[in-house]
This record gives sequence, C-alpha cells and structure tokens, in this order.
Amino acid sequence: MDDFNLQSKTKLGIRTGKEYLEGLRDDRNIWMHGKKVDDVTKQDGLRRCAETLATFLDNQHHPKYISDLTYVDDDGDRCAIAFQIPMSKEDVKARGKSYYEWAKWSNGYFGRTPDYKNASVMSFAAATSFLEKGIKGQGGKAMAQNMLNYYNYARKNDKVLTHTLVNPTYNHQQGYKGKFSEKVALQVVKETDKGIIVNGARLLATLGPLADEIEVFPSTVLKATPDNIPFAFAFAIPLATEGLRLICRDSYDLGKSNFDAPLSSRYEEMDAVVIFDNVLVPWERIFMYGEPELCNPAFGETNAVVHMMHQVACLKLAKSEFMVGLMCSIVQASGRDKDLYTKGLIAEVMQMTESIRALLFSAEEQAHKDQYGNFIPLRYPLETSRNLYPRMYPKMIEILQILGASSLMATPSEADFSNEISDDVEKYFQLTNLGSKDRVGLFRLAHDVAISGFGSRQALYERYFFGPPALMASSYYDLYKKDDLIDRIDNFLKQ
Ligand SMILES: Cc1cc2nc3c(=O)[nH]c(=O)nc-3n(C[C@H](O)[C@H](O)[C@H](O)COP(=O)(O)OP(=O)(O)OC[C@H]3O[C@@H](n4cnc5c(N)ncnc54)[C@H](O)[C@@H]3O)c2cc1C
Repeated sequence: MDDFNLQSKTKLGIRTGKEYLEGLRDDRNIWMHGKKVDDVTKQDGLRRCAETLATFLDNQHHPKYISDLTYVDDDGDRCAIAFQIPMSKEDVKARGKSYYEWAKWSNGYFGRTPDYKNASVMSFAAATSFLEKGIKGQGGKAMAQNMLNYYNYARKNDKVLTHTLVNPTYNHQQGYKGKFSEKVALQVVKETDKGIIVNGARLLATLGPLADEIEVFPSTVLKATPDNIPFAFAFAIPLATEGLRLICRDSYDLGKSNFDAPLSSRYEEMDAVVIFDNVLVPWERIFMYGEPELCNPAFGETNAVVHMMHQVACLKLAKSEFMVGLMCSIVQASGRDKDLYTKGLIAEVMQMTESIRALLFSAEEQAHKDQYGNFIPLRYPLETSRNLYPRMYPKMIEILQILGASSLMATPSEADFSNEISDDVEKYFQLTNLGSKDRVGLFRLAHDVAISGFGSRQALYERYFFGPPALMASSYYDLYKKDDLIDRIDNFLKQ
C-alpha cells in the first residue's frame, strides 16, 4: 500500500478499510458450511474478500483516485461520488469514470462493489416526490423523509449495502402471474407502534455476509398483483438485526494462494439466502409499505434502475476488456495469434467489448434531465447492454474454453515450482513465448475465469443477477419506441 494518510477520519464521509472491517465485527447471524460464523473477518472463505473490499475503500483516499471517486458535500464531508445527485451531463460522466475506476481494480470480478447500491440509494433519495405518493397520500411524506434520512446516513457513513429483491419461488405458474407464496415469501405478519414484523425468506444477497446494511426492496422486473399487500414494502436494516439470518452457499475461496487461484482468492463475494424470523423493522427504516402498485414501478419511476445499469455497464466494460487481454495473452504465448480462426474467435469478444463501450458512450452523451430535475444517462442503450450481457458473457467463456483447451487442465500448483518435481514443471510447461511459471500463472487465471467454481458462479451471476432474462427482454420490448416503426410498415403497404 502506498504511503498515504489512512488515519481514522475525523469528519463524516468515506471510510478506511480498517473502519469497514471493524464494522463487520458485530453479532450478525451468518451460516456457512453447516456452522454459524463467529467473525466474518476471520472466517476462511469470507475473510479474504472482506480484505479486498477494505483495500478498495482505502483506495478512495489515495491521491491518485480521491478527486475522481469522491466529492465534498455542502457540509464539507467527503463522500463517495456514486451518492452525488447528478445535476448535469458532466456529473453523469463523472459517475461513469468513477464506476469504471472501481471496476478496473477487480477487472469486473467483484460484482457488488458498493457503488452499485450507492447509486440506487441516491436515485430513491433524488426522487422523493415519487415516494410521497405512498399510502395513497397518507404516510408517503414520512416515508419519503425516511428515504432521505437513510440516504444521508448511508452516504455520510460510507455504508456497504447489499440488497435482496426477489421472493423464493414456490410455484412457478403462480410466480409468473405475480403471486407470492405465503409459505416461503417475505411478508408482514404484524404491525406494532415500533414498526412492522416480517417473516419469510428472500434471495439472494450477494456480498450479504460482508455488508453493513441490507436493502429489502421490490423487484426491478417482477411485478406483484394489486392484492399482494403483505408482500409489498421497501426497507433497509443493519445485517446485525435480531431474527435476521443469512444462509451462505459453499465458498469458492478454498484458501489457495493468489498464484494458484488469482480470482477466487480475492473476489469471493458470496451469495446468501436471507431468512427473516419475526424481524422488527422500525417505521423510520420503511420507505414504501402496503402498496404493490407503488412498489411495482419503483425502480423504473425513480430511475434507480437507470443509475444501476450505468454502474453495471462500466463494470461489464472492464470485465470484457479483461477477457480480450486474457485471450490475446494466451494465444500470443504459443504463437497462435497469427491463426485466422483464432483471430476470428477473439475478434468476436473484441466486438462485444466495443458494443458495450459504444452503448455506454451513447447513454452518457445523451444524458438528460429527468422528471425530478436531476440528470440521468439515456436509458435505452443501458437497457440494451443489460439485456445483451447475459448472453455475451457465457459466449466469452465458451471462446476462452475453446482457446484454452487442455492448457486449462495443465495447471500444476505454485508449490510444484519448488518441490522435487520442479525440474519437470520448469521443462515441460514452457511455451515458445512464455516461461513455465508465467504460463502456469496465465492458465491458472484462465482456469479461474472459465472452469473453476468461482468462474461458473460468475457465468451464472451474469445470466441472472439483474433478473430473469425472459422478463428483462419482455420489459425491453414494452419500453421500446415501436409506434413510428409500425407506422412505416403501414405507410409502405399503403403506397
Ligand atoms: C449469482 C447470483 C447472484 C444474485 N445476487 C442477487 C442479489 O444480490 N440480490 C437479489 O435480489 N437477487 C440476486 N440474485 C437473484 C436474481 O435476481 C434471480 O436469480 C433472478 O431474478 C431470477 O430469479 P430466480 O433465480 O428465482 O429464477 P426463476 O424465477 O426460478 O427463473 C428460472 C427460469 O425461468 C424463467 N422465467 C422466470 N419468470 C418467467 C416468466 N414469467 N416467463 C417465462 N420465463 C420465466 C427465467 O428466465 C429463468 O430462465 C442473484 C442470482 C444469482 C444467480
């Protein structure tokens, strides 16, 4: 780490990594590998990802990044730029620059960096007039104020958020019709003077065990029927809330060295199913309540989905660029970079990368004022990007497997370079343009992308994290401006 000032802050605003790690040491109820986790910052399988995120938070203070990643608010507090409400096209572009910088630190493999959720919280706070409509005009003002207060709390304390937007499916036919199951879905079971009591499950909280707070919001794409009142709400609570339990999948960080597992040793951000066992949600933490018709369009109407898609497009650009770099390195190592077929395969990935870049450019260049007087990037290019990437990324993985072939399996471990078979490894693993150790390191990286448990989870993440692709495509179709195009056909036929 460079020698820059990481003293504990005296004013509110961006936190240091140390402060983040200290904040995780609370009585959160996390279950992994059949056992309750004592301390997520010491738990194998979680610990190293927390440490990675801590270094990212420290980066915010670095002289190289501080002006691009933070802003000083009216109170003189330095906060993360994703929290800044954009008031101009330049502000939108500055957000994009900051997202892209964050993304490059992990080459897009840390999917849930805090800027993603910060963008969403900012959007809801910037659109409080939408929330004011809540409770048919009765309680909405208070809830809008709750949202503003929460935004300032998260912003001034640099909180790391996760979110859970989806109820588990019990019956797909009912689910497709927008009905949630009382047996499994998260629902309000009681109101008290302190707040609401909720019971049930939600999926899936990426980074859940390593977040400070969890947002429990309606889905961005799944629409509930108007009678789904007990299931309609938006709130945020600390991870260490009584009755809240996270059940993790197996960790893909198996304790290997950075050489042996370059990605999974650093970016295992974990996903967890979230159980609410009669959890009290205080009134002041509730932002929407009891109105499915308000919840259904919330992410669209507040433009939160637009700002989240903006962050995601920047992340996917960094990830795609990384894939191009990785593939070119692989083929250059063995001199296959002159081969027509090989170049054609990689050119396809280059074209996908440039498509994301062009969509991002288009969205930022056409940034415009929204209905609340703030600025947003143009929605269509970002919608296009979020609909394309779930198909692009698995295609990139397929191409990487085709390019890598058995080299993805010819991957001795770091220890084999210093034990009694090290001569074998040095001799038989070299390539025309790469020594053995560098070749093994390169293909171990490719293995972590294309073959490992970590890599497979990444592919699944790209397919699903933003919602079911079928529903995203259907909503894309609905949003698309089609009328003029249909008229053109009509007019042509009438000629
Ligand atoms: C790695 C990973 C991380 C995730 N992280 C988060 C997170 O942090 N927060 C969060 O809230 N969620 C998260 N998700 C969950 C994500 O939102 C869901 O996976 C997604 O919404 C799909 O829901 P589902 O998994 O229940 O699939 P299902 O609803 O069971 O869908 C299964 C299949 O049915 C199709 N389908 C669904 N509905 C319809 C329909 N009406 N008509 C036709 N076909 C349909 C889908 O396209 C899909 O192919 C994550 C998912 C993954 C895989």
